[in-house]
Amino acid sequence: MKRIVIVGGGTAGTMMANKLTRELTGRGWVITVIDRDNNHIYQPGLLFVPFGMDGEKDLIRPRLRFLEPGVELVLSELEQIEPEAQQVALANGMRIPYDLLIVATGTRILPEETPGLLGPGWQRDIFDFYTLEGARALHRRLEQFEGGKIVLNVVGMPIKCPVAPLEFMFLADAWATERGIRNKVELTYATPLDAAFTKPKAAAALGDLLEKKHVHVESDFSASEADPEAKVLRSYDGRAVDYDILVTVPLHGGDAAIARSGMGDDFGFLPTHPNTLQATEVDNTFALGDATDLPTSKAGAVAHFQAEVLVENVLRHIRGLPPEAAFDGHANCFIETGHGKAILIDFNYETEPLPGRFPIPGIGPFHLLEESHVNHWGKLAFRWAYWNLLVKGEELPLDHRMALAGKWS
Ligand SMILES: Cc1cc2nc3c(=O)[nH]c(=O)nc-3n(C[C@H](O)[C@H](O)[C@H](O)COP(=O)(O)OP(=O)(O)OC[C@H]3O[C@@H](n4cnc5c(N)ncnc54)[C@H](O)[C@@H]3O)c2cc1C
Repeated sequence: MKRIVIVGGGTAGTMMANKLTRELTGRGWVITVIDRDNNHIYQPGLLFVPFGMDGEKDLIRPRLRFLEPGVELVLSELEQIEPEAQQVALANGMRIPYDLLIVATGTRILPEETPGLLGPGWQRDIFDFYTLEGARALHRRLEQFEGGKIVLNVVGMPIKCPVAPLEFMFLADAWATERGIRNKVELTYATPLDAAFTKPKAAAALGDLLEKKHVHVESDFSASEADPEAKVLRSYDGRAVDYDILVTVPLHGGDAAIARSGMGDDFGFLPTHPNTLQATEVDNTFALGDATDLPTSKAGAVAHFQAEVLVENVLRHIRGLPPEAAFDGHANCFIETGHGKAILIDFNYETEPLPGRFPIPGIGPFHLLEESHVNHWGKLAFRWAYWNLLVKGEELPLDHRMALAGKWS
């Protein structure tokens, strides 16, 4: 028997395990997934937790329930990958050999990298919403909040779901409006970027929307420290922003096990070929999802497009063929804008988000780079699609390559 080891049983690892099992069952391969726990979290749902919107329904499910029969799940912390010996070492003492390794360990937040975030202010007036614990604590704080300054700061890029901080701002505006306290709430978006988003057309559209909703944007803001006693966030260029509640999207890094294995870049992300998804510095290794160093969004939708390409490349590798350079950086994302509306963006390495209709050119039903109620229903339906299709590795009627048809340049 030969073995594929997949480290990380989140969005990307689960999808890959299920797709590969269907292809390789009965062909002399066993697939082993390693994760530290059995709690699969639907992370896009974390956005809604602080505002008490649909609570925590369907947010956490057991990983095992979403793996095809035949996939082996080992629950233990990955200590180290040993590429020379072609094996992984686990905290429970096991060493598991592999013929092919897939890295899907995702990314993690590093609040400890910014002075003042952790400490007396943490989960008192400084919160994250990228973890379940953080999102729940922020919900409790917002329930008591009667007015003041809410500042959201993205400390540095890359982060997962780069539109989630903008969505947070839009939802905070809608939440305060619905509670009748909007005139007592000041909203500030402090970003290290020079605009609301990285790509010009989307940055302009999203910047306009922030302005319309009276969210102040503090651009080029590179946070140096938070002072939890004075409740001030400072930047390297000497600016200071006061807050009553600071919502931080801390620096992100790859998993510590990747760094321990000497396989990561400066942020702990795995150097990966942008089109084949093969690891560039270690043999018999591929990667997908947030764990890679690729210049596309760190998003579940991206992991899905990558999985389509990677299954083919793993099968080619097994047959002794070179991988195909088929991944084009395709990303798409619904951006919740509040009051039952959302925007959809669709882009890749080469093409920035453009206006248009999606997925059927000229028809839709979704509107690109434009607010609509239909887009909001798409965002809500994504949760159902995630648990019932996406992580199960089912085929979706969406090409992994980005289409230009239906887009207006
Ligand atoms: C607030 C928020 C909103 C989001 N909204 C969207 C959205 O609207 N659309 C979208 O497409 N994406 C969204 N995302 C991003 C999406 O959730 C991630 O990009 C996606 O989950 C990445 O999948 P992954 O498999 O690479 O990582 P993950 O799903 O995070 O899985 C990584 C797995 O590896 C395991 N692991 C890591 N290191 C170890 C170790 N050393 N030992 C054992 N196990 C380990 C972890 O336990 C985890 O299960 C959002 C994320 C957040 C936080």
